[in-house]
Amino acid sequence: MICPKCGFVDKSIDVPELSKTISKLVTCKKCGTTIFCVPSQKRREKSTIETVQKGESREEHLVEIYLKYEKGRISKKRPGSSDIDRDIYDENNELIYHWEIKERSNSLNAYKETQFPYAKIDEAKRLIKETGKPVFIVLKFVDCWARINIDLKKEYKKGKQPFAPRYRPWQRTKERQIPVQILVEELEILKIRDECQEDF
Ligand SMILES: [Zn+2]
Repeated sequence: MICPKCGFVDKSIDVPELSKTISKLVTCKKCGTTIFCVPSQKRREKSTIETVQKGESREEHLVEIYLKYEKGRISKKRPGSSDIDRDIYDENNELIYHWEIKERSNSLNAYKETQFPYAKIDEAKRLIKETGKPVFIVLKFVDCWARINIDLKKEYKKGKQPFAPRYRPWQRTKERQIPVQILVEELEILKIRDECQEDF
């Protein structure tokens, strides 16, 4: 397990492969937080346009919170339909990193692996080579904020099964549906606690 509050990893407690109901996993030995497995909740969707609009303002809200605690001053959307959404600039208007934020409706320990389109890994590596700046993927789970610093030298695990994330219509191509699979125990847990639920 990995503690959503302090980031402590206890290898003697396995993260379930696939949680189907809300359950209590364990209490963190380091900070005493009760750790829950909370599977992702299906939100009722009205229309695609409405969902996209709602999703974008929610995303802006999360971006604002992130920049309150982490490096950077201004977040700009990257041009076009890049697989990595945003660029961050400092107060001197210098590009400092590229990043993207994804919100999850499950808790950190609900699934052993977290996945997102493999195309983001390819694009991240391309960007690191092009600009020399780091690329981060931030995952906002219901109980914590976590981060991946994409490593140019790392071979990321490719899933075999295509999966169906919530894509915008123009992003629905077959290739993008091959996921990367990352063990949640390898994520960096951030100190941000805004919008984090502690009890379920
Ligand atoms: Zn802890």
